[in-house]
Formats: sequence, structure tokens, C-alpha cells
Amino acid sequence: MNVAKNNILYVTDREPVIMSKGKDMYLWDTNGKKYLDFIAGWAVNSLGHCPPVLVDALIHQAERLINASPAFYNDKMLEFADLLVKNSCFQRVFFTSTGAEANESAIKLARKYGQVSKRGAYKIITFEHSFHGRTLATMSATGKQNWKPLFEPKVPGFIHVPFNDIDAVKASLDGETCAVMLEPIQGEGGVNEANPDFIKALAGLCKETKTLLIFDEIQTGLGRTGKFFSYQSYDCEPDIMTLGKGIGGGYPLAAMLAKDELNIFSKGEQGGTYTNQPLGMAAGLAVTGEIIKRKLWKNAEKMGNLIKSELATLASRFRLSSIRGQGLLLAFNVPDEKATELMKKCFQNGLLINSPEPSMIRLIPALTIKEEHVKKLMGILEKCMKEMF
Ligand SMILES: *Cc1c(COP(=O)(O)O)cnc(C)c1O
Repeated sequence: MNVAKNNILYVTDREPVIMSKGKDMYLWDTNGKKYLDFIAGWAVNSLGHCPPVLVDALIHQAERLINASPAFYNDKMLEFADLLVKNSCFQRVFFTSTGAEANESAIKLARKYGQVSKRGAYKIITFEHSFHGRTLATMSATGKQNWKPLFEPKVPGFIHVPFNDIDAVKASLDGETCAVMLEPIQGEGGVNEANPDFIKALAGLCKETKTLLIFDEIQTGLGRTGKFFSYQSYDCEPDIMTLGKGIGGGYPLAAMLAKDELNIFSKGEQGGTYTNQPLGMAAGLAVTGEIIKRKLWKNAEKMGNLIKSELATLASRFRLSSIRGQGLLLAFNVPDEKATELMKKCFQNGLLINSPEPSMIRLIPALTIKEEHVKKLMGILEKCMKEMF
């Protein structure tokens, strides 16, 4: 296999190595080089690489039933929906394969609600620097500045306002608004936390104006931020929540959860070839069950705090700033827009970290991470930063 000469359509730059094996916190390439993984497939491998519970569930289910048809119930989908409902404030679940589809479902459900209960209201307020996916509608919902000119014309009906600014929401909200949609902590946009007063005011405003509150917890959900779901740390109940990434532990899976009153789609208005696909349901059930059984949000909080305090000890020496985030959704800024350079240097030194912006490093490792991995992380980071700053 030759990476330099390949037939993959270009969409991004990649390091010229081929990944071929994973175990727990580590990945190996075809040359046998080992990498400590603090990206985890972008907060996806919640139990680390190839965890036995997931491997066993996939093997067992693959031997029994891989795909029936979205037209039939299967045992795993019922069991999995039960588990999610028992552990959240929602009563209804729709399963998809990707986060973008889960958000598309939420957008469609909000518009349906507008049709049924709010005289055709269709507008959805979202936030600057938000990220909701890469389909045309979810790109339209996304508040990334550099996406504005792309693939015009966008899907109409999305209004972007500054994050944490309740007055801006009030100014944009009118009789045509069916929903407000946000990430409680903006992941791709820079690990920006919603402030509790803002969420409280927003939830109140939504209730008052019969506007749906949608939490996109595709990155923050399933234990990542130190709670099972991030909304639980804001003392509020959204009407709709979307999940993805960590829910399948690496198997492509996502979900939209909604309150019982929103069980309002008519036959045929939403669906999908792979909704409730048994293999995915078995994967999600095993991964989510394990997160709950081991209360992994507690480990996320503990290890997250350890990483933050370790980073703080390096801050003045290397001019690190804005060490932030909750649980294991963490970020910090490096001087002189050198995040990409630091990321590349770490890569050479066998450490995978992510840089969504020129001065920002994001850490989103598996929820199962141990102290020894944090020590290794800090050792490599310190070595690389010493050479650079
Ligand atoms: C990753 C992400 C999405 C999109 O999920 P995909 O599975 O890539 O479609 C949407 N919202 C948030 C907050 C995300 O982090």
C-alpha cells in the first residue's frame, strides 16, 4: 500500500501513515509505530480502541442478525431505547448512523412542531461558532464564519446569534421561530462553555414563547463532560437532544431523543435504511451500558481535572492560556498560532492531539483513560513545547 499514490477523493490533509491497529489508549501504524491517542476519533472511542465489550457485542450480533429491515422491530433497538429513556429526561428515541442525520431529524421535528403547534413557525436560532454537521441543512445551522460562503444557497431559516447572549436571542426570536438549538459546550468552535445563567434564561424564554430547546450533545453527551449528559449540569430539560460520536464507541451510530409530546411525525415523514440496524443497536447498547455500569463520567471528571491542573503547572513557562473545558472535553491556547506545529511535533513523538484552530489544542481522549496516560501526555507535551517555545 502506498499512501502517496491513492484513490481517495481529497477532502483534507492527512499524515502519510496508515493506521492498522488499536488497543485501549493506543493506535499503531503499518510501520509498527505506536501513538498515544488523545483524539479518540474525535471523541468517538469512548471506551478506547477495540474494547472487549464492544468487540464481543459486535461478534455475537453479527452471528445472529446484522440487518433485518427498518420496517421491523428488533430486540436490540427496543432494549437500547429503554436504556436511553431510563437514564435521561426523554421518552422517545430515533436512531441514525451519524450525528448530522440526528440533527437533521431534530430540525425536521422542530419544523413539524412549528407546523402542528405554532402556525407554521420554521425558523431555528443557532449560535456563532457552533457546529452541527456537514449535510446542507446542518451546515446551514452551523455558525462557523468560514462556512458562510460555501455551497450557497444554504437552507433558509437559520439565524445565528452570539453565544451566551440572551438579549441577542430575544431580539431574533419571533412568532416564526420554532426552536433554539445549541451545544452546551461548543466542541469544534473552541470548547466554549455555555454559562449557567444564560441556559437558565434561555430555557425560561423558550418555555414562555413555546419555542423548542434543542441540545446538540453529539460531542458532550455520554459521560464526556463529567455528567452522563451535559444538560444535567445546567439544571434544565431540553425538549430534544441529539447524541452521536461516543454512543457507538467507534461504530457509526447516533440518536435523537425527544419528549413524549413530540412524538408527532406522521407515517413516512422520517426514516432511513439504517435506522435501528441491529448490529449498530448491539454496539450502542454495549457501549452505553458499559458507560453507565462503570459511571465513566466520574473518571472523565477526575482525569479532566488532573489534566487541567498539570497543564496549569506548564502555563507560565510556555505561555499557555485559557485552559478550559469540562470532564474530558478540554482545550488550551498556545502562543503565536503554533498549534498546528505543536500537533505535528507531537505526532512525530507518538502523541495524537487535535487542533481545530490555529492557536488551540483540544484533548478528547477515551473516558477510560488512566493516570499513567496523563503522565505520558504531559511528558511528550513538555518535551515538544520545550523545543518550540
Ligand atoms: C461531530 C458533531 C456533529 C456531526 O456528527 P457527524 O457524525 O460527523 O455527522 C454534530 N454536532 C456536534 C456538536 C458534533 O461534535
